[in-house]
Amino acid sequence: MKTIKTVSEMQDCRKTLAEPVGFVPTMGYLHGGHISLVRKAREENVSVVVSIFVNPKQFGPNEDFEKYPRDLQGDLEILEEEGVDAVFAPEAAEIYPQDFNSRVEVLGITQKLEGNCRPGHFRGVTTVVNKLFNIVRPQRAYFGQKDAQQVIVIQKMVKDLNMNLEVITCPTIREEDGLAMSSRNIYMNPEERQSAIVLYRSLMLAQDMYQRGERDAEAIRKEMVRLIKTEELARIDYVSVADPATLDELDMITGKALVSLAVKFGKTRLIDNVVLG
Ligand code: AMP
Repeated sequence: MKTIKTVSEMQDCRKTLAEPVGFVPTMGYLHGGHISLVRKAREENVSVVVSIFVNPKQFGPNEDFEKYPRDLQGDLEILEEEGVDAVFAPEAAEIYPQDFNSRVEVLGITQKLEGNCRPGHFRGVTTVVNKLFNIVRPQRAYFGQKDAQQVIVIQKMVKDLNMNLEVITCPTIREEDGLAMSSRNIYMNPEERQSAIVLYRSLMLAQDMYQRGERDAEAIRKEMVRLIKTEELARIDYVSVADPATLDELDMITGKALVSLAVKFGKTRLIDNVVLG
């Protein structure tokens, strides 16, 4: 496995990789969610590239960029074990040199949900993912359903800009108690960690209501909010039942619905989702 720090080395390495190339962009501090993406990429491609880059442009000024967990050595050991061909782990100055002055932005859907709570977040994501796609030139790129809006935004960017690759969405991997795996889970103290189970319980409640025939989106939102509020430590950013294409809030569920939420436990902000229908 090659560990690569510079863009030019990555471009040179790419020339030596047998195709198709599968690519998994990450911010590192790898867990079972990331590993599931790597395994899927390993299954479906001849070569696999993983990037590890905590992208400063997708963090707001008061967010956790500085304290985002990092463990490059541990990550490399995991990726070596998974049979990855190359790991691209550049410094920020390599990706954004001083004269860097461009951006890639998907409009509309990036203003909703996460985009509404985290202004500029998706612009940071699409800018870096676009650069990574140009550097790695994968045939396939793998993303987690855990970050549902992120995949929707990236699919839109790929379609709108005629990027020549396939975006593959992989299911959310969870801890035994249902909490979605996330690098941010380690921020929580034991009480917060225990309370955070309510997120999965509220998504299961939504699924259960839907399966019993409920189609009134507001009724589902209300019950989810009620359940989440039974946890004193939970501070809701949003609970949404939206059209998965437009991310507009639904009144009645007639086709598919993306049920998503963002909730803070102390300083830790968690997101999760399920798709109904
Ligand atoms: P991150 O390192 O958090 O930027 O995540 C890198 C990729 O892993 C993204 O495509 C995420 O959606 C995906 N991912 C993160 N957590 C999970 C999870 N629990 N299950 C599946 N995919 C995940």
